[in-house]
Amino acid sequence: MLAFVGANLIDGTGAAPVVDATVLIQGKAIVAVGCGIEVPEDATVVNLRGKTLLPGFIDAHVHLGGSDALDDRMGNRGRHATGDYAYNVNQLLSWGVTAVRSGGDWTPDILSFRDEAEAGLVRAPHIVASGRFVQACGGHPLSTVYGDDALVMQNACVLIHKEDGAGRIEAAVRRAVGEGVDVVKVFCGDDNKLLYPEDTTVPTMTDEQLRLVVRFAHESGKRVMAHIDDLDDMDRALDAGVDAIEHVCNVCTDPDQEIGDGLLAKLVSRGAYVTPTIVATAEHEEHGFTNGAPPVAPAARRAVAKMVRAGVRIGVGTDAGIPFVAYGRSLHREMRELVQCGMTPLQVLAACTGGNAELLQREDSFGTVAVGKAADLVVLGSDPLESIENTRDVALVLRDGSIVVDKGLLSA
Ligand SMILES: [Zn+2]
Repeated sequence: MLAFVGANLIDGTGAAPVVDATVLIQGKAIVAVGCGIEVPEDATVVNLRGKTLLPGFIDAHVHLGGSDALDDRMGNRGRHATGDYAYNVNQLLSWGVTAVRSGGDWTPDILSFRDEAEAGLVRAPHIVASGRFVQACGGHPLSTVYGDDALVMQNACVLIHKEDGAGRIEAAVRRAVGEGVDVVKVFCGDDNKLLYPEDTTVPTMTDEQLRLVVRFAHESGKRVMAHIDDLDDMDRALDAGVDAIEHVCNVCTDPDQEIGDGLLAKLVSRGAYVTPTIVATAEHEEHGFTNGAPPVAPAARRAVAKMVRAGVRIGVGTDAGIPFVAYGRSLHREMRELVQCGMTPLQVLAACTGGNAELLQREDSFGTVAVGKAADLVVLGSDPLESIENTRDVALVLRDGSIVVDKGLLSA
């Protein structure tokens, strides 16, 4: 048994921190949490006085088979080409990320890797995976970022053609779900930023096709996450019935766009999640990865600030695995961005742990420090409520009760 004592505990539910808390871990699970808990004699005791203990962070939007290398546009591959995602998963774990939702990957590679990670055969965060992405033929991202790459088409994509009706769409969605995915990822943007400043419009699914994808996914018991490029796409995705919105405003969209009260009300009434990935927009603009388009990160931040005020459910995710968006590290920047949009550090920490677990539909397994939950834990050397920047001060990471990162806390 492992016993953490004397910790400042932030449990991931949004509750105020508990001082001098004890957390007992047996095998993979948390077996006791609280103050004044008796520590069994045979337990290995770790004194966390002056340190903060919280659930492992969850990145709600990554591409695990991607690459965060500079301008690596073909970076979406499977187990062989990525060496079992080794660099990517090690970066994630070392920054305290113990679970991810991966939206658009080589399939079935990501699914077998997910299962092996869950069985403890490979060292990686818990993975919730969409497998292939569902998109319009000729649209984003296959025909844009991947230049119609045949391998991406074969392994990571479900193409919906202009003439496809209910029968074909049902078959396509059921085939994709039948591979064993956790969630369905659909693209409903119609922009190709690589064409800027020419006309950036590319094919996208019709509203009816989008509705059918969502309907058949829901009938198969799967949530739908929708990539959008701007606020009009967000509205369209909500009308189609998607559960989760990915991004807010992407590069090359209107820098003056403002979210209206109607859309805000719709987000709230539908209970939809928005995972803004501000860090991705910001990193692209800071690195000039924009074809000279005017910056939209300010518009994204304005929209997110309004969503925060309106009470929209915010997911914390990054888009790690696309150029310039680093695995693990960028989640800490996204947390800072969300604080700058008006969330308190405690709210952001709850969103990035317990809240994201709900978004991933894994709240029964992990995301909070509670009895029976997986011992996915992070120890920070300094207080993240004092400054959200302190989330970067990762000293120790446990995943399913195993110590996967120790930056000198136990070995010192
Ligand atoms: Zn993405």
